[in-house]
Amino acid sequence: MNISSEQIVDTFIIHGITVEIQRITWRNDPGLSFDVIADGEMLTDESFDAFPTGGQILGVLREHATTFCRFCGRGIVGNEGHLIGAAEPGTNPWCCDDDWDERLR
Ligand SMILES: [Zn+2]
Repeated sequence: MNISSEQIVDTFIIHGITVEIQRITWRNDPGLSFDVIADGEMLTDESFDAFPTGGQILGVLREHATTFCRFCGRGIVGNEGHLIGAAEPGTNPWCCDDDWDERLR
């Protein structure tokens, strides 16, 4: 398929990460494709057919996370995680927002 145009149609910040939504139109196809770009890096392997929802965007970011919550295993995106002060050396010190408790500090 031939790309007709590529355009950044929205930019916002999620947990400190700059997220851009790129819309692609095709020369021989009336459909649209939407991709998620985070800090300049294209994250979507497979484009969305419609403008992605906040939940879908967060899902894409979580799939590419490099740190994970110690308790639920969820990917931690940008600056949303918390460091567990009492984590034993060699164990995962990260906790997601939902599981965080001030007593872990
Ligand atoms: Zn968690």
